[in-house]
Amino acid sequence: MDEVLSAALEPVCRDLERSGLQPPRLEDREWNDFPGYASAVMWAPDGSGRGVAVDRTAPAHERVAAAADQVQEQTIESQLWGVAETNWPRCPEHPHSHPLEATTSGEAAVWVCPASRSVVAPIGGL
Ligand SMILES: [Zn+2]
Repeated sequence: MDEVLSAALEPVCRDLERSGLQPPRLEDREWNDFPGYASAVMWAPDGSGRGVAVDRTAPAHERVAAAADQVQEQTIESQLWGVAETNWPRCPEHPHSHPLEATTSGEAAVWVCPASRSVVAPIGGL
C-alpha cells in the first residue's frame, strides 16, 4: 500500500473502529492516472468497492480530510444506509439531522458541524 495513502487513511479508520464500524479493506490498485495522485480501491464489508485517491502534493492534513470524506461516504452507503442512522460521525449539536463534515482548520484535519462550522474533533480523535 502506498505510504502517503495509508497515512491519509489511518485517522479516519481509527474513528470508524472507535464508532464500532468496520474500516474498508484496501486493495493496492492504482486506478487514478492523474499525475501526483495516490490511489487504491476500498472494499466495504457488503462487498461494494470504490476508489479512494489523495493528492500527493497537498499538505498532509488536507490529504487526511480528503481521505476521511471518501471513507465517510462509502461507510454511509455500505454500512448504515437502511439499517441505522446514516449520520456518521454524529453531530453532537444536531444528533438527528446531519453527519459531521471532514475538512481542514488551520493546519489540522477536523470534523466540523456543517451548520455551525464549529470544530468537534480532530479526524482520528473522535
Ligand atoms: Zn451540527
